[in-house]
Amino acid sequence: MVPVALLSVVLASLCSAVSANAATTAVANVSHAASTTCEVLKALLGSKIVLPTDCSYTQLSDENWSQTTWEHPSCIAVPSRAEDISAVVDAAVVANVPFAIRSGGHSPNPFDANINTGILIAMDNFSQTTYDETTGLATIGMGSRWDAVYTALDQHNLTVVGGRVMDVGVGGLTLGGGLSYLSDLYGLVCDNVVNYEVPCASFYLPIMSAY
Ligand SMILES: Cc1cc2nc3c(=O)[nH]c(=O)nc-3n(C[C@H](O)[C@H](O)[C@H](O)COP(=O)(O)OP(=O)(O)OC[C@H]3O[C@@H](n4cnc5c(N)ncnc54)[C@H](O)[C@@H]3O)c2cc1C
Repeated sequence: MVPVALLSVVLASLCSAVSANAATTAVANVSHAASTTCEVLKALLGSKIVLPTDCSYTQLSDENWSQTTWEHPSCIAVPSRAEDISAVVDAAVVANVPFAIRSGGHSPNPFDANINTGILIAMDNFSQTTYDETTGLATIGMGSRWDAVYTALDQHNLTVVGGRVMDVGVGGLTLGGGLSYLSDLYGLVCDNVVNYEVPCASFYLPIMSAY
């Protein structure tokens, strides 16, 4: 029985040595692919792609509310048009590079809205709120924070079923359901969404309707 037990140990060691090497190679490959993809995107989108060597990199990578989610992305995309998001997602999918999306950055869970060795898409520029009197609908950027949304709608003497803490982002709260001070009357925040605009890798921008 003893030799068998010893053999098992040796085999286990060999297995773990092989898988450790394979894992190291895989990480190196992803890291290289991510850096290359970031360079390609920088050439395409210019200042909307922030590299680790750029001045604003650290401030952007550490913008998340909790330090548990401060990471080191290969680059940070700060798109300002839906087409920019499509371009980033397209490049990431083609090169098999992981990416993360951040709205208000208030999730404290590591890697929820930040990433190591991959692309962080920061929605900061999608921060507009507009109101259409004819339809009665507000169009709200997924990178907005609730204080900006309420301030914009105040001008119309209106409000929206939204978050209770002003600094939290529209994107994460809405996609997570969203509990509002008005939920007793009107349901969750997500219950009040009529359309989502969803940029895809293919440059096709469908409007997904809840109705
Ligand atoms: C101080 C504080 C107060 C809070 N108050 C409330 C409250 O009143 N009501 C309530 O319901 N919740 C509340 N929460 C919880 C909060 O809703 C969640 O933490 C939510 O995820 C935060 O949204 P965010 O956009 O700021 O977060 P982020 O960290 O940016 O995003 C959270 C998740 O959503 C994803 N995501 C964000 N934007 C997009 C997008 N455009 N497309 C695809 N995925 C996206 C991210 O990838 C991430 O996985 C609170 C949290 C904190 C820390």
